[in-house]
Amino acid sequence: PYSELFKTGDIIFAEGDAPSGAFLIESGRIEISTTQFGERRVLGELGPGMLLGEMAVLDESPRTATARALTNCRLTPIDAAQFAERLAAADPVVRALLMSQLTRYRSALATLTGDGTGRPSVSLAQPDDAHAFDKIRLESELRAALERKELEVRLQPIEEIISGRIAGYEALVRWQHPERGAVSPAEFIRLAEETSLILPVGDYILERVCDMLGELQRRGRKPLPFIAVNLSARQLDDAQLVERILAHLRKRDLPPDRLKLEITESLVLDYARIADLLERCHAVGMHVALDDFGTGFSNLGPLLTLSFDQIKLDGSFVKALDRQRGVAVVGVVVAMARALDCDLVAEGVETREQREILHQLGCRYAQGWLVGKPVPLDHVLKA
Ligand code: C2E
Ligand code: CA
Ligand code: CA
Ligand code: CA
Repeated sequence: PYSELFKTGDIIFAEGDAPSGAFLIESGRIEISTTQFGERRVLGELGPGMLLGEMAVLDESPRTATARALTNCRLTPIDAAQFAERLAAADPVVRALLMSQLTRYRSALATLTGDGTGRPSVSLAQPDDAHAFDKIRLESELRAALERKELEVRLQPIEEIISGRIAGYEALVRWQHPERGAVSPAEFIRLAEETSLILPVGDYILERVCDMLGELQRRGRKPLPFIAVNLSARQLDDAQLVERILAHLRKRDLPPDRLKLEITESLVLDYARIADLLERCHAVGMHVALDDFGTGFSNLGPLLTLSFDQIKLDGSFVKALDRQRGVAVVGVVVAMARALDCDLVAEGVETREQREILHQLGCRYAQGWLVGKPVPLDHVLKA
């Protein structure tokens, strides 16, 4: 569904054409040919798993060969920007190597000595790095999925333990891939973060969340629950982020304190940037949560300088509540959150026992399968 189909005999691109993009060959065979001194010469054949037309894209020169479908073909288009971005980010040595190979290929093509079989002295087929291709294919598909609005935002309830009331939700993205099924955000968000694709993806999620808040308000939900959105590092580079979120909220007449931003511990390394974000959010009444607290090389440093409104305790600590040591550690986190005047949300709460211990320790909020799984907005509206 993300790929383009060509029929036997179709010209996919012609020598001299301006490069529009490259393709990953999913199925079928393609003949590469060039015209030398008025004579057409076949350079070779490409098949499934190979890249087609990436040369012209790398240095933006016109196509040096014509690609014709020998059979019916299915190709996944790859945007030139996808290569450009990875190339720019690549190790300079790798970049230099690639560029020198490209130059050599082009000059070999120009003189086209051939080896008597009509094949060029350079190989057209790339060593297939299946993993790299998988990534780039998934990236193309994600780009298309975004345009087709195939990314779904689900809401997972966050309960105030003492009252049993649902105080808000966390927005968790899902990608219903037509062939791969549900692709985990842990997989595709990381991929999107490797390129600037996370920016349109992040924007889309933010807009969807504002739409959802608007819908909850329109249906008269009182008090209006908050929705927390996960942010990625690249989104934080955007100096206009807070302003753009505010514009979305204003357009729908929504109070800014109903949207929370979640930032993971690993993003907090850049203190100055986060301090700036916190300041700008607080100036307009938007709340920011420190996500996945306690994971990684846990560090209390951020809490010395950064005033988060909420701390989200990672689910691994909730799992540890079946041991006395776990109870002791979570107890200390509860006390710390209280001393800092921060709300504490325990994540990954799956059993009544866990909720009961959290309640006794004085943790205010619980999130997890016990309270509810992430569901579409419809389910929330019906509840
Ligand atoms: P996270 O922010 O820590 O989100 C909580 C994860 O725990 C979610 O996984 C959620 O489905 C899962 N979970 C909730 N309750 C339970 C439970 O009781 N038990 C267990 N075992 N798991 C539970 P999910 O939805 O797969 O998301 C994984 C991660 O992907 C998120 O971790 C977040 O870092 C990232 N992510 C998800 N949606 C977005 C998004 O819209 N934007 C960004 N930037 N990242 C997102
Ligand atoms: Ca989160
Ligand atoms: Ca988390
Ligand atoms: Ca997590």
